Amino acid sequence: MSLDPLLTQARLLDAADPLAPLRARFALPRDAQGEPLTYLCGHSLGLAPLDARRLIEEELDDWANLGVEGHHRARRPWIGYAELLQDGLAQLAGARRDEVVAMNSLTVNLHLMMASFYRPQGKRIAIVVEEGAFSSDRHAVVSQIQWHGLDPAQALTELAPPRGQDLIDESQLTELLAARGDEVALVLWPGVQYRTGQAFDLGRITAAAHRAGAHCGFDLAHGMGNLPLALHDDGADFAVWCGYKYLNGGPGALAGAFVHDRHARSTLPRLAGWWGHDPASRFRMEPGFVPAPGAGGWQVSNPPILSATPLLASLQLFAEAGLPGLQAKSRALTAFLEAALRERYAQALEVVTPGRPEARGCQLSLRVRAGREKGRKVIASLEAQGIVADWREPDIVRVAPVPLYNRFEDAARLVAGLDVALAAP
Ligand SMILES: *Cc1c(COP(=O)(O)O)cnc(C)c1O
Repeated sequence: MSLDPLLTQARLLDAADPLAPLRARFALPRDAQGEPLTYLCGHSLGLAPLDARRLIEEELDDWANLGVEGHHRARRPWIGYAELLQDGLAQLAGARRDEVVAMNSLTVNLHLMMASFYRPQGKRIAIVVEEGAFSSDRHAVVSQIQWHGLDPAQALTELAPPRGQDLIDESQLTELLAARGDEVALVLWPGVQYRTGQAFDLGRITAAAHRAGAHCGFDLAHGMGNLPLALHDDGADFAVWCGYKYLNGGPGALAGAFVHDRHARSTLPRLAGWWGHDPASRFRMEPGFVPAPGAGGWQVSNPPILSATPLLASLQLFAEAGLPGLQAKSRALTAFLEAALRERYAQALEVVTPGRPEARGCQLSLRVRAGREKGRKVIASLEAQGIVADWREPDIVRVAPVPLYNRFEDAARLVAGLDVALAAP
């Protein structure tokens, strides 16, 4: 079967894509011959914005030339560095400026948020999560339960998809909350499930949690920079995310958190540090802790400038692209890939990710129907062909055409690569 028609169609779509020039603003990983790889792994590590190098060099220069003075006199004074990221993050989160903060790493932020928003009392002790949650999230949740002297066997409620299925319907969660809501202290849910790529209706989940009298928080590791988000209007109590997946902040980049306005002056206990102190009096260094209003009041330490800098470069590209345009391209690109996969490989691959555009971001999770052994060969073959995807046990290939830097041609190349990979013995 000739795949040329698909490639031709893809190139026409790329030629008509107003966001296509953004690809040239990223460094593309290359093979040994210097040819760019077909990179479809932005769900794991986003590509490097070319501007990141210049911006980091500027910080290194300011440090070299100014030393401690750089806190105030650097071209981007370090003392207010986290605030430089706020507008861009607020846009992506669908939040007000003071509802977001760039800080720490994802799991650390999850702990900080649970320190405030998981307050088990009486019979209301449960944290509801999805079964099969990302390992780090589960470790964090279990250890928080134990931290309160409680037994995870009693306080952890894990919700699984119906038997034999991959996807959870939000109504399973709303039914659980309607039936047993008075036992639930916190619902912690992903924006996008990392293995299946399923996206959830955050407003519906929040409303159900609040009706039950529970707090509701979201892990947006795979949501920020990928889904259209409206955290403020959806009413989430908190959310956390990392900086290195769709946010392209670089390995281990500065992460972030959202805390809803209604908690801006919260008196809930928190794990405090000087950077969360009201900036107006932070440097008086007095013993009493006066939290800054808003999400910034959950900061602990002064931010790592060198890990925050690439995020600035990336958020600038999001701003240039504009979120509605990115969203439209994302849907078109993922639908293009999905249609080609369904048409050609329905026998060999199951698209696990929901087909409805509201129920997914850009990621597609593909089950290799022949099982694990064949699946490992498929991913190895793709790699040998210069196509970067990844593998989740036991049988899932994950790919993400990212609208900031991927082309329709990349989707066509994956389809051609799968032709070779699936045909091999
Ligand atoms: C990527 C990811 C993490 C990673 O946690 P770090 O604290 O950034 O190391 C955690 N949870 C989920 C759901 C993720 O997708």
